[in-house]
Amino acid sequence: MRPANLAAPRLSTTRALVPLAAAAGAYWLPGAAPIAPPIAAAFALRRHADRATGIALTFDDGPHPDGTPAVLAVLREMNVTATFFLVGEQVERSPELAATIIAAGHEIGVHCFRHRCLLRRSPRETRADLTRAATALGAVGARPRLYRPPYGVANLAALSVARRNHWIPLLWSHDGRDWQRRATPTSIADRILRRISPGDVILLHDADHYSAPGSWRATVRALPRVLHELNERGFQVGSHREITARHGSPNDAIRSDDQDSNNVPTTGSRPDGQPRMRRRRDAVSPSTTR
Ligand SMILES: [Zn+2]
Repeated sequence: MRPANLAAPRLSTTRALVPLAAAAGAYWLPGAAPIAPPIAAAFALRRHADRATGIALTFDDGPHPDGTPAVLAVLREMNVTATFFLVGEQVERSPELAATIIAAGHEIGVHCFRHRCLLRRSPRETRADLTRAATALGAVGARPRLYRPPYGVANLAALSVARRNHWIPLLWSHDGRDWQRRATPTSIADRILRRISPGDVILLHDADHYSAPGSWRATVRALPRVLHELNERGFQVGSHREITARHGSPNDAIRSDDQDSNNVPTTGSRPDGQPRMRRRRDAVSPSTTR
């Protein structure tokens, strides 16, 4: 009898479930950021470097016993710095490599401890993973100020940990797709160089721990062409820290790095004593292509 009374509990149950569903949706919503720029913007997941005069070069998934030294050698040869988003468990396996990256004047960012998509992690698991990552990176002297979740997929717990640690979430605008089995040096360079402009963030990988075996070899072979062509076009290329530093001369930038470094205090210059090269920043063309 009285269907209205029967309907009432069902309605209130539905009403109770709506905020729950909304909360669950919100938890995973940041995960859509890599494919949905408005969502990335809503959760402050940057795809570009703010106020940058150059292009940010970033590498994920290291350190790797073969890939990282090979990438570091090209960067040293080209006198370019980059940001390395490190994986905590790989840092624990190769702490000396992580320290080498820092000593060479590159910037360190947090990627994760274990490389797993955050859509499959609860808030507690997410917090635990990032805490372990921070501990592993801290053990080699890194003090990161950037965060990039695996696959660019974040959840609310990860963003909350990032905020508490003052890590800026940074995704990318140009994916070389060097992690794919079919990637070639040409395909990687072509993807990166297409419609690139100041403030863009390049994503590459110096490791194949979580991608096609040996994929870092194509990355290493693509790098010289990428850096040469960007230099030819007059772009400054460097770590996120370097291209967002508001300083007039390389020496000023280096001194600033010493003062508020994201890594342990280093010499501030390259191990060979040479100042880090800044690309012809006054020749940078206006951004038109985001
Ligand atoms: Zn990754």
